[in-house]
Amino acid sequence: MSTFQAPKGTYDLTPPRSATFLAVREAIAAPLRDSGYGYIETPGFENVELFARGVGESTDIVTKEMYTLTTKGGDQLALRPEGTASVLRAALEANLHKAGNLPVKLWYSGSYYRYERPQAGRYRHFSQVGAEAIGTEDPVLDAELIILADQAYRSLGLRQFRILLNSLGDKECRPVYREALQTFLRDLDLDEETRRRIEINPLRVLDDKRADVQKQLTDAPKLRDYLCDACKAYHEEVRALLTAAGVVFEDDEKLVRGLDYYTRTTFEFVHDGLGAQSAVGGGGRYDGLSEMIGGPELPSVGWALGVDRTVLALEAEGIELDLPYTTSVYAVPLGEEARRVLFGVVTGLRRAGIAADFAFGGRGLKGAMKSANRSGARYTLVAGERDLAEGVVQLKDMESGEQNAVPLTEVAAELAKRLG
Ligand code: AMP
Repeated sequence: MSTFQAPKGTYDLTPPRSATFLAVREAIAAPLRDSGYGYIETPGFENVELFARGVGESTDIVTKEMYTLTTKGGDQLALRPEGTASVLRAALEANLHKAGNLPVKLWYSGSYYRYERPQAGRYRHFSQVGAEAIGTEDPVLDAELIILADQAYRSLGLRQFRILLNSLGDKECRPVYREALQTFLRDLDLDEETRRRIEINPLRVLDDKRADVQKQLTDAPKLRDYLCDACKAYHEEVRALLTAAGVVFEDDEKLVRGLDYYTRTTFEFVHDGLGAQSAVGGGGRYDGLSEMIGGPELPSVGWALGVDRTVLALEAEGIELDLPYTTSVYAVPLGEEARRVLFGVVTGLRRAGIAADFAFGGRGLKGAMKSANRSGARYTLVAGERDLAEGVVQLKDMESGEQNAVPLTEVAAELAKRLG
Protein backbone atom coordinates (compact mmCIF):
# COMPACT_ATOMS: atom_id res chain seq x y z
CA MET A 1 0.00 0.00 0.00
CA SER A 2 1.36 3.39 -0.89
CA THR A 3 1.59 6.00 1.85
CA PHE A 4 -0.93 8.27 0.20
CA GLN A 5 -3.99 6.17 -0.27
CA ALA A 6 -7.58 6.73 0.81
CA PRO A 7 -9.14 3.80 2.72
CA LYS A 8 -10.56 0.93 0.67
CA GLY A 9 -13.87 1.74 -0.95
CA THR A 10 -13.40 5.49 -0.62
CA TYR A 11 -12.03 8.18 -2.86
CA ASP A 12 -11.25 11.86 -2.65
CA LEU A 13 -12.96 14.63 -4.52
CA THR A 14 -10.29 16.82 -6.02
CA PRO A 15 -10.40 19.69 -8.51
CA PRO A 16 -11.50 19.91 -11.22
CA ARG A 17 -13.89 16.93 -10.89
CA SER A 18 -14.98 18.07 -7.42
CA ALA A 19 -16.67 21.09 -9.02
CA THR A 20 -19.07 18.73 -10.76
CA PHE A 21 -20.00 17.15 -7.41
CA LEU A 22 -20.82 20.53 -5.94
CA ALA A 23 -22.89 21.42 -8.99
CA VAL A 24 -24.80 18.13 -8.75
CA ARG A 25 -25.59 18.70 -5.07
CA GLU A 26 -26.75 22.19 -5.94
CA ALA A 27 -28.88 21.02 -8.88
CA ILE A 28 -30.66 18.44 -6.72
CA ALA A 29 -31.20 20.90 -3.89
CA ALA A 30 -32.48 23.78 -6.03
CA PRO A 31 -35.96 22.41 -6.85
CA LEU A 32 -36.41 21.39 -3.21
CA ARG A 33 -35.55 24.84 -1.92
CA ASP A 34 -38.02 26.30 -4.40
CA SER A 35 -40.74 23.97 -3.13
CA GLY A 36 -40.80 24.75 0.57
CA TYR A 37 -38.20 22.27 1.83
CA GLY A 38 -35.99 23.60 4.65
CA TYR A 39 -32.39 22.54 5.15
CA ILE A 40 -31.58 20.09 7.94
CA GLU A 41 -28.24 18.75 9.09
CA THR A 42 -27.81 15.89 11.54
CA PRO A 43 -24.69 14.25 13.03
CA GLY A 44 -22.64 11.79 10.99
CA PHE A 45 -23.31 9.16 13.65
CA GLU A 46 -26.30 8.11 15.73
CA ASN A 47 -27.06 5.57 18.42
CA VAL A 48 -27.03 2.12 16.81
CA GLU A 49 -30.55 1.57 18.14
CA LEU A 50 -32.00 4.16 15.77
CA PHE A 51 -30.94 2.30 12.64
CA ALA A 52 -31.55 -1.14 14.10
CA ARG A 53 -35.15 -0.19 14.86
CA GLY A 54 -35.68 2.22 11.99
CA VAL A 55 -33.97 0.65 8.99
CA GLY A 56 -34.76 -2.86 10.20
CA GLU A 57 -32.92 -5.64 12.05
CA SER A 58 -33.22 -7.96 9.05
CA THR A 59 -31.83 -5.69 6.37
CA ASP A 60 -28.35 -6.07 4.88
CA ILE A 61 -27.70 -2.47 5.84
CA VAL A 62 -28.07 -3.21 9.55
CA THR A 63 -26.79 -6.78 9.72
CA LYS A 64 -23.74 -6.47 7.47
CA GLU A 65 -23.02 -2.96 6.33
CA MET A 66 -23.12 -0.69 9.34
CA TYR A 67 -19.93 0.82 10.74
CA THR A 68 -20.52 0.48 14.46
CA LEU A 69 -18.30 1.57 17.30
CA THR A 70 -18.28 1.73 21.06
CA THR A 71 -17.13 5.04 22.46
CA LYS A 72 -14.77 5.35 25.41
CA GLY A 73 -17.87 6.22 27.42
CA GLY A 74 -19.53 2.96 26.38
CA ASP A 75 -22.09 4.35 23.91
CA GLN A 76 -22.94 2.17 20.94
CA LEU A 77 -22.85 4.34 17.84
CA ALA A 78 -23.09 3.78 14.11
CA LEU A 79 -21.89 5.93 11.24
CA ARG A 80 -25.10 6.79 9.45
CA PRO A 81 -25.83 4.37 6.60
CA GLU A 82 -28.77 6.45 5.33
CA GLY A 83 -30.54 9.70 6.09
CA THR A 84 -34.22 9.10 6.71
CA ALA A 85 -34.07 7.65 10.23
CA SER A 86 -31.76 10.46 11.42
CA VAL A 87 -33.87 13.20 9.88
CA LEU A 88 -37.05 11.82 11.41
CA ARG A 89 -35.31 11.45 14.78
CA ALA A 90 -34.13 15.07 14.60
CA ALA A 91 -37.56 16.35 13.55
CA LEU A 92 -39.18 14.54 16.49
CA GLU A 93 -36.52 15.77 18.91
CA ALA A 94 -37.07 19.38 17.78
CA ASN A 95 -40.87 18.88 17.81
CA LEU A 96 -41.05 20.22 14.27
CA HIS A 97 -44.22 18.20 13.75
CA LYS A 98 -45.92 20.15 16.54
CA ALA A 99 -44.94 23.58 15.25
CA GLY A 100 -48.01 23.90 13.07
CA ASN A 101 -47.67 23.21 9.42
CA LEU A 102 -47.71 19.62 8.25
CA PRO A 103 -46.03 18.20 6.35
CA VAL A 104 -42.66 19.17 7.73
CA LYS A 105 -40.61 19.38 4.54
CA LEU A 106 -36.85 18.97 4.90
CA TRP A 107 -33.85 18.46 2.64
CA TYR A 108 -30.32 17.40 3.47
CA SER A 109 -26.96 16.70 1.92
CA GLY A 110 -24.10 14.70 3.34
CA SER A 111 -21.88 11.65 3.68
CA TYR A 112 -23.13 8.12 4.32
CA TYR A 113 -21.23 4.97 5.19
CA ARG A 114 -21.84 1.34 4.31
CA TYR A 115 -19.41 -1.52 4.67
CA GLU A 116 -20.13 -2.95 1.22
CA ARG A 117 -17.95 -4.80 -1.28
CA PRO A 118 -16.52 -1.91 -3.29
CA GLN A 119 -17.02 -1.84 -7.05
CA ALA A 120 -17.69 0.75 -9.72
CA GLY A 121 -20.47 2.96 -8.34
CA ARG A 122 -20.48 1.27 -4.93
CA TYR A 123 -18.37 2.80 -2.21
CA ARG A 124 -18.02 2.61 1.53
CA HIS A 125 -18.32 6.34 1.82
CA PHE A 126 -20.74 8.06 -0.53
CA SER A 127 -22.82 11.16 -0.64
CA GLN A 128 -26.53 11.76 -0.97
CA VAL A 129 -28.92 14.65 -1.23
CA GLY A 130 -32.26 13.73 0.25
CA ALA A 131 -35.72 15.07 0.96
CA GLU A 132 -38.34 14.07 3.51
CA ALA A 133 -41.95 15.24 3.89
CA ILE A 134 -43.10 14.28 7.36
CA GLY A 135 -46.58 13.98 8.84
CA THR A 136 -48.96 13.90 5.91
CA GLU A 137 -50.61 11.16 3.94
CA ASP A 138 -51.47 12.64 0.58
CA PRO A 139 -50.73 11.17 -2.86
CA VAL A 140 -49.94 14.69 -4.09
CA LEU A 141 -46.95 14.72 -1.74
CA ASP A 142 -45.62 11.42 -3.12
CA ALA A 143 -46.05 12.79 -6.63
CA GLU A 144 -44.38 16.10 -5.69
CA LEU A 145 -41.22 14.35 -4.53
CA ILE A 146 -40.95 12.16 -7.61
CA ILE A 147 -41.57 15.15 -9.87
CA LEU A 148 -38.86 17.19 -8.07
CA ALA A 149 -36.28 14.41 -8.44
CA ASP A 150 -37.16 14.10 -12.11
CA GLN A 151 -36.82 17.87 -12.47
CA ALA A 152 -33.40 17.80 -10.76
CA TYR A 153 -32.07 15.10 -13.07
CA ARG A 154 -33.45 16.85 -16.13
CA SER A 155 -31.92 20.16 -15.09
CA LEU A 156 -28.55 18.39 -15.17
CA GLY A 157 -29.26 17.28 -18.71
CA LEU A 158 -29.70 13.59 -17.84
CA ARG A 159 -32.01 11.69 -20.17
CA GLN A 160 -31.14 8.00 -19.92
CA PHE A 161 -32.79 7.41 -16.56
CA ARG A 162 -36.01 5.60 -15.84
CA ILE A 163 -38.40 5.80 -12.91
CA LEU A 164 -39.59 2.50 -11.47
CA LEU A 165 -42.74 2.66 -9.37
CA ASN A 166 -44.50 0.25 -7.07
CA SER A 167 -46.79 0.10 -4.06
CA LEU A 168 -45.86 -2.08 -1.09
CA GLY A 169 -49.29 -1.91 0.55
CA ASP A 170 -49.93 -0.92 4.14
CA LYS A 171 -50.34 -2.55 7.53
CA GLU A 172 -53.74 -3.94 6.48
CA CYS A 173 -52.87 -5.70 3.24
CA ARG A 174 -49.12 -6.30 3.36
CA PRO A 175 -49.24 -8.95 6.13
CA VAL A 176 -51.76 -10.98 4.11
CA TYR A 177 -49.53 -10.83 1.07
CA ARG A 178 -46.45 -11.59 3.15
CA GLU A 179 -47.97 -14.83 4.34
CA ALA A 180 -49.05 -15.89 0.86
CA LEU A 181 -45.56 -15.15 -0.42
CA GLN A 182 -43.94 -17.10 2.40
CA THR A 183 -46.09 -20.13 1.68
CA PHE A 184 -45.03 -19.96 -1.96
CA LEU A 185 -41.33 -19.41 -1.23
CA ARG A 186 -41.03 -22.23 1.31
CA ASP A 187 -41.67 -24.76 -1.49
CA LEU A 188 -38.79 -23.52 -3.65
CA ASP A 189 -35.27 -24.86 -3.97
CA LEU A 190 -33.26 -22.21 -2.16
CA ASP A 191 -30.07 -21.97 -0.09
CA GLU A 192 -30.03 -21.68 3.70
CA GLU A 193 -29.54 -17.93 3.87
CA THR A 194 -32.39 -17.27 1.47
CA ARG A 195 -34.58 -19.65 3.48
CA ARG A 196 -33.87 -17.58 6.57
CA ARG A 197 -34.76 -14.48 4.63
CA ILE A 198 -38.16 -15.97 3.78
CA GLU A 199 -38.99 -16.00 7.48
CA ILE A 200 -37.66 -12.56 8.32
CA ASN A 201 -38.20 -10.46 5.21
CA PRO A 202 -39.74 -12.46 2.36
CA LEU A 203 -40.26 -9.46 0.07
CA ARG A 204 -36.50 -9.12 -0.19
CA VAL A 205 -36.31 -12.53 -1.86
CA LEU A 206 -38.15 -11.02 -4.84
CA ASP A 207 -35.22 -8.66 -5.21
CA ASP A 208 -32.67 -11.51 -5.49
CA LYS A 209 -30.49 -10.86 -8.51
CA ARG A 210 -29.53 -14.52 -9.20
CA ALA A 211 -31.01 -16.03 -12.36
CA ASP A 212 -31.75 -19.43 -10.80
CA VAL A 213 -33.74 -17.71 -8.06
CA GLN A 214 -35.54 -15.37 -10.45
CA LYS A 215 -36.55 -18.35 -12.61
CA GLN A 216 -38.41 -19.90 -9.69
CA LEU A 217 -40.22 -16.66 -8.91
CA THR A 218 -42.21 -16.41 -12.14
CA ASP A 219 -45.42 -17.64 -10.50
CA ALA A 220 -44.91 -15.92 -7.16
CA PRO A 221 -48.02 -14.23 -5.81
CA LYS A 222 -48.15 -10.59 -6.86
CA LEU A 223 -48.48 -7.84 -4.30
CA ARG A 224 -50.69 -6.00 -6.75
CA ASP A 225 -53.35 -8.70 -6.37
CA TYR A 226 -53.34 -8.26 -2.58
CA LEU A 227 -53.45 -4.47 -2.27
CA CYS A 228 -56.45 -3.28 -0.24
CA ASP A 229 -58.87 -0.82 -1.85
CA ALA A 230 -57.39 2.16 0.00
CA CYS A 231 -53.86 1.31 -1.15
CA LYS A 232 -55.04 0.71 -4.69
CA ALA A 233 -56.83 4.04 -4.86
CA TYR A 234 -53.84 5.83 -3.35
CA HIS A 235 -51.46 4.30 -5.85
CA GLU A 236 -53.73 5.08 -8.81
CA GLU A 237 -53.84 8.69 -7.68
CA VAL A 238 -50.03 8.92 -7.52
CA ARG A 239 -49.79 7.39 -10.97
CA ALA A 240 -52.40 9.79 -12.40
CA LEU A 241 -50.63 12.82 -10.90
CA LEU A 242 -47.30 11.78 -12.39
CA THR A 243 -48.88 11.22 -15.77
CA ALA A 244 -50.58 14.61 -15.61
CA ALA A 245 -47.19 16.18 -14.86
CA GLY A 246 -45.71 14.48 -17.92
CA VAL A 247 -43.39 12.31 -15.81
CA VAL A 248 -42.86 8.95 -17.46
CA PHE A 249 -42.57 5.94 -15.14
CA GLU A 250 -42.62 2.15 -15.33
CA ASP A 251 -44.69 -0.03 -13.03
CA ASP A 252 -42.31 -2.50 -11.43
CA GLU A 253 -43.98 -4.90 -9.04
CA LYS A 254 -40.64 -6.47 -8.11
CA LEU A 255 -39.36 -3.21 -6.67
CA VAL A 256 -39.12 -3.75 -2.90
CA ARG A 257 -36.03 -1.71 -1.92
CA GLY A 258 -33.54 -2.64 0.77
CA LEU A 259 -35.06 -0.93 3.77
CA ASP A 260 -37.83 -2.31 5.95
CA TYR A 261 -39.69 0.89 6.63
CA TYR A 262 -41.36 1.46 3.29
CA THR A 263 -45.16 1.32 2.87
CA ARG A 264 -47.29 2.07 -0.17
CA THR A 265 -45.42 4.18 -2.74
CA THR A 266 -41.87 3.06 -3.50
CA PHE A 267 -39.76 4.19 -6.40
CA GLU A 268 -36.30 4.03 -7.79
CA PHE A 269 -34.45 6.09 -10.38
CA VAL A 270 -32.22 3.85 -12.48
CA HIS A 271 -29.72 4.93 -15.08
CA ASP A 272 -29.03 2.70 -18.06
CA GLY A 273 -25.40 3.73 -18.50
CA LEU A 274 -24.11 2.51 -15.15
CA GLY A 275 -23.94 -1.28 -15.34
CA ALA A 276 -24.67 -3.27 -12.18
CA GLN A 277 -25.03 -0.33 -9.79
CA SER A 278 -27.75 1.30 -11.82
CA ALA A 279 -29.85 2.83 -9.03
CA VAL A 280 -29.06 6.52 -8.87
CA GLY A 281 -31.72 7.31 -6.32
CA GLY A 282 -34.74 5.97 -4.58
CA GLY A 283 -37.33 6.47 -1.95
CA GLY A 284 -40.88 5.99 -0.90
CA ARG A 285 -43.48 6.31 1.78
CA TYR A 286 -42.70 5.23 5.32
CA ASP A 287 -45.91 5.60 7.28
CA GLY A 288 -44.80 3.35 10.14
CA LEU A 289 -41.24 4.55 10.72
CA SER A 290 -42.02 7.19 13.34
CA GLU A 291 -43.78 4.62 15.52
CA MET A 292 -40.97 2.13 14.93
CA ILE A 293 -38.49 4.54 16.50
CA GLY A 294 -40.84 5.42 19.36
CA GLY A 295 -42.60 8.49 17.94
CA PRO A 296 -46.26 9.29 17.23
CA GLU A 297 -48.05 8.26 14.07
CA LEU A 298 -46.55 10.42 11.31
CA PRO A 299 -47.09 9.15 7.78
CA SER A 300 -44.21 10.42 5.65
CA VAL A 301 -42.51 10.12 2.30
CA GLY A 302 -39.00 10.87 1.05
CA TRP A 303 -36.12 10.06 -1.22
CA ALA A 304 -32.35 10.11 -1.41
CA LEU A 305 -30.38 10.59 -4.59
CA GLY A 306 -26.79 9.41 -4.76
CA VAL A 307 -24.38 12.17 -5.75
CA ASP A 308 -21.54 9.80 -6.73
CA ARG A 309 -23.71 7.80 -9.11
CA THR A 310 -25.34 10.91 -10.52
CA VAL A 311 -21.86 12.17 -11.46
CA LEU A 312 -21.13 8.75 -13.04
CA ALA A 313 -24.42 9.03 -14.94
CA LEU A 314 -23.39 12.45 -16.29
CA GLU A 315 -20.09 10.95 -17.42
CA ALA A 316 -21.89 7.98 -18.99
CA GLU A 317 -24.07 10.35 -21.02
CA GLY A 318 -21.07 12.49 -21.92
CA ILE A 319 -22.61 15.54 -20.27
CA GLU A 320 -20.25 18.31 -19.27
CA LEU A 321 -21.89 20.76 -16.94
CA ASP A 322 -21.54 24.38 -17.87
CA LEU A 323 -19.45 25.31 -14.85
CA PRO A 324 -18.33 28.93 -14.90
CA TYR A 325 -14.66 29.47 -14.10
CA THR A 326 -14.34 30.62 -10.53
CA THR A 327 -11.55 33.10 -11.17
CA SER A 328 -12.44 36.22 -13.19
CA VAL A 329 -9.24 38.19 -12.74
CA TYR A 330 -5.65 37.00 -12.36
CA ALA A 331 -2.97 39.38 -11.16
CA VAL A 332 0.65 39.07 -12.25
CA PRO A 333 3.14 41.31 -10.40
CA LEU A 334 6.61 41.92 -11.78
CA GLY A 335 8.85 42.85 -8.87
CA GLU A 336 8.59 43.46 -5.13
CA GLU A 337 6.77 46.78 -5.22
CA ALA A 338 4.26 45.48 -7.78
CA ARG A 339 3.62 42.48 -5.54
CA ARG A 340 2.47 44.67 -2.67
CA VAL A 341 0.43 46.99 -4.85
CA LEU A 342 -1.27 44.27 -6.93
CA PHE A 343 -2.04 42.18 -3.88
CA GLY A 344 -3.81 45.26 -2.54
CA VAL A 345 -5.77 45.51 -5.79
CA VAL A 346 -6.72 41.80 -5.59
CA THR A 347 -7.92 42.20 -2.01
CA GLY A 348 -10.03 45.17 -3.08
CA LEU A 349 -11.52 43.24 -6.00
CA ARG A 350 -12.39 40.32 -3.75
CA ARG A 351 -14.08 42.62 -1.27
CA ALA A 352 -16.06 44.07 -4.15
CA GLY A 353 -17.26 40.59 -5.05
CA ILE A 354 -15.00 40.00 -8.05
CA ALA A 355 -13.31 36.59 -8.04
CA ALA A 356 -9.59 37.21 -8.25
CA ASP A 357 -6.39 35.22 -7.87
CA PHE A 358 -2.72 36.09 -7.74
CA ALA A 359 0.60 34.78 -9.07
CA PHE A 360 2.31 33.79 -5.84
CA GLY A 361 5.95 33.00 -5.33
CA GLY A 362 7.50 35.73 -7.43
CA ARG A 363 7.64 33.76 -10.69
CA GLY A 364 8.66 35.30 -14.00
CA LEU A 365 6.16 36.67 -16.49
CA LYS A 366 6.04 33.54 -18.66
CA GLY A 367 5.27 31.08 -15.88
CA ALA A 368 2.77 33.47 -14.29
CA MET A 369 0.90 33.94 -17.59
CA LYS A 370 0.65 30.16 -17.91
CA SER A 371 -1.02 30.05 -14.50
CA ALA A 372 -3.28 32.90 -15.54
CA ASN A 373 -4.36 30.87 -18.57
CA ARG A 374 -4.92 27.76 -16.53
CA SER A 375 -7.05 29.65 -14.02
CA GLY A 376 -9.59 30.37 -16.73
CA ALA A 377 -9.64 34.05 -15.73
CA ARG A 378 -11.14 36.34 -18.34
CA TYR A 379 -8.79 39.20 -17.43
CA THR A 380 -5.23 39.50 -16.22
CA LEU A 381 -3.65 42.46 -14.50
CA VAL A 382 0.07 42.86 -15.09
CA ALA A 383 2.18 45.54 -13.46
CA GLY A 384 5.93 46.25 -13.33
CA GLU A 385 8.06 49.12 -11.99
CA ARG A 386 7.34 51.37 -14.97
CA ASP A 387 3.56 50.87 -14.75
CA LEU A 388 3.58 51.70 -11.07
CA ALA A 389 5.64 54.82 -11.69
CA GLU A 390 2.87 55.91 -14.08
CA GLY A 391 0.16 54.85 -11.65
CA VAL A 392 -1.33 52.25 -14.02
CA VAL A 393 -1.69 48.51 -14.49
CA GLN A 394 -1.95 46.61 -17.78
CA LEU A 395 -5.39 45.07 -18.17
CA LYS A 396 -5.46 42.21 -20.65
CA ASP A 397 -8.58 40.61 -22.05
CA MET A 398 -7.60 36.94 -22.31
CA GLU A 399 -10.28 36.22 -24.91
CA SER A 400 -9.47 38.96 -27.42
CA GLY A 401 -5.82 39.39 -26.42
CA GLU A 402 -6.36 43.17 -26.24
CA GLN A 403 -4.38 45.02 -23.62
CA ASN A 404 -4.52 48.56 -22.31
CA ALA A 405 -3.26 50.61 -19.38
CA VAL A 406 -5.81 51.48 -16.70
CA PRO A 407 -5.16 53.90 -13.82
CA LEU A 408 -4.76 52.01 -10.53
CA THR A 409 -7.57 53.97 -8.97
CA GLU A 410 -9.99 52.90 -11.69
CA VAL A 411 -9.13 49.20 -12.02
CA ALA A 412 -11.90 47.94 -9.77
CA ALA A 413 -14.60 50.05 -11.42
CA GLU A 414 -13.37 49.14 -14.92
CA LEU A 415 -13.38 45.42 -14.14
CA ALA A 416 -16.78 45.62 -12.48
CA LYS A 417 -18.11 47.29 -15.64
CA ARG A 418 -16.53 44.79 -18.03
CA LEU A 419 -17.60 41.75 -16.01
CA GLY A 420 -21.14 43.11 -15.88
P1 AMP B 1 -30.62 3.60 -0.74
O1 AMP B 1 -30.67 4.30 0.57
O2 AMP B 1 -29.90 2.28 -0.66
O3 AMP B 1 -31.91 3.55 -1.45
O4 AMP B 1 -29.66 4.51 -1.64
C1 AMP B 1 -30.08 5.67 -2.28
C2 AMP B 1 -29.04 6.05 -3.29
O5 AMP B 1 -27.80 6.28 -2.64
C3 AMP B 1 -28.74 4.98 -4.30
O6 AMP B 1 -29.63 5.04 -5.37
C4 AMP B 1 -27.34 5.31 -4.72
O7 AMP B 1 -27.31 6.34 -5.69
C5 AMP B 1 -26.74 5.84 -3.45
N1 AMP B 1 -25.97 4.78 -2.78
C6 AMP B 1 -26.39 3.87 -1.89
N2 AMP B 1 -25.39 3.07 -1.49
C7 AMP B 1 -24.28 3.49 -2.15
C8 AMP B 1 -22.91 3.08 -2.18
N3 AMP B 1 -22.46 2.08 -1.42
N4 AMP B 1 -22.07 3.75 -3.00
C9 AMP B 1 -22.49 4.77 -3.77
N5 AMP B 1 -23.76 5.20 -3.77
C10 AMP B 1 -24.65 4.58 -2.98
